[in-house]
Amino acid sequence: MQIIPYATQSIDETDLQAVQEVLTSGWLTQGPTGPRFEEAFAERHAVAHAVSVSNATAGLHIACLALGAAPGKVVWTSPNSFVASANCALYCGAEVDFVDIDPVTRNMSVSALTAKLAQADREGSLPALVIPVHFSGLPCDLAPMRSLADRYGFKLLEDASHGVGASYDGQPIGSRYADASVFSFHPVKIITTGEGGMVTTQDAALARRLQLLRSHGITRTPGEMALDGPPHGPWYYEQATLGFNYRLTDIQSALGLSQLQKLDAFHTARERLAERYDRLLASLPLKLPARAPSATANARSSWHLYVVEVLPGAGVADRDTVFQRLYEAGIAVNVHYIPIHTQPFYQARGFRLGQFPAAEAYYAGAISIPLFPTLTDAQQDYVVAELKKALRA
Ligand SMILES: *Cc1c(COP(=O)(O)O)cnc(C)c1O
Repeated sequence: MQIIPYATQSIDETDLQAVQEVLTSGWLTQGPTGPRFEEAFAERHAVAHAVSVSNATAGLHIACLALGAAPGKVVWTSPNSFVASANCALYCGAEVDFVDIDPVTRNMSVSALTAKLAQADREGSLPALVIPVHFSGLPCDLAPMRSLADRYGFKLLEDASHGVGASYDGQPIGSRYADASVFSFHPVKIITTGEGGMVTTQDAALARRLQLLRSHGITRTPGEMALDGPPHGPWYYEQATLGFNYRLTDIQSALGLSQLQKLDAFHTARERLAERYDRLLASLPLKLPARAPSATANARSSWHLYVVEVLPGAGVADRDTVFQRLYEAGIAVNVHYIPIHTQPFYQARGFRLGQFPAAEAYYAGAISIPLFPTLTDAQQDYVVAELKKALRA
């Protein structure tokens, strides 16, 4: 039986050629292809600066550092995300807390954020940084989040790992509202470089800081060095800060550049399949994905994931049964996400079950069904037919 995955990469001949060219070019890393990918990504996302990184987790780490996460500071994120959205704050020695989700969009709830900020303001425990996550590729409601950031003085970092090509307010996401945004190029995401990620920002000084943190904190730029006098010689560099090796190779960047050319085609295919699911699943006991974060924001999802929620009811099987039946039918569904605060690691840090009830209720019913550009209509029809059967108690 051929297994249908919930997500997979699309690699074609042009990708192979692009990678092969770099392999024989003399530059496997730190050559000209890295900056070319950064420039092309920035242009496509209508943002001034893009800094490539070895993966989105590394990008979240250095973005948190550059935006002030540190011991004694608090960072808030969504419980409905991959653990990396919270772990990045802990890497910096900061504390993590969560803001519950909106059950319709499954993104961080603006009203829960507003209420939690008002309380934190009274208690003197405001966050230094808030990390909303564009879950499944549906943009968060960024405009009110920006207003709250300005009012309460925190930085806003988008975890846009799902959001390559998504748009909000008619513009690509990627730092029109946030201080910085982090994208992932893992093979299950929208475009891939194997492992890889990108941090975007409108702030030139922040971009420079990210470049330093990405590569050992080392600089050769005269104005950035402590040494006043003449350098030791042309080999001279200085370590200006404690950085890491979080670079993306030229091999990966070539793949990224090639994938980026196909982003619009990928997006069109994903959107068409999502709309087809909307039609085919409309009469089933399922809650389907929302369209936009609010009636006013002109938002388009990147359609990274198509998540249905099994609605409990008479004659309806429970989520675990539906999941198991789909798996047995050769459909490799998944569940996104186990709420981060319910992980044993986070429970040991003091979080409790029941603390973020909307994320927990959502998790109890959620299943991510197959969505990727090369999913055929026949495969999709098979998924729908099997899902229909699996839902019967
Ligand atoms: C995939 C993902 C990450 C981590 O991305 P990597 O590139 O694998 O490090 C972080 N946050 C979210 C929401 C993700 O989906």
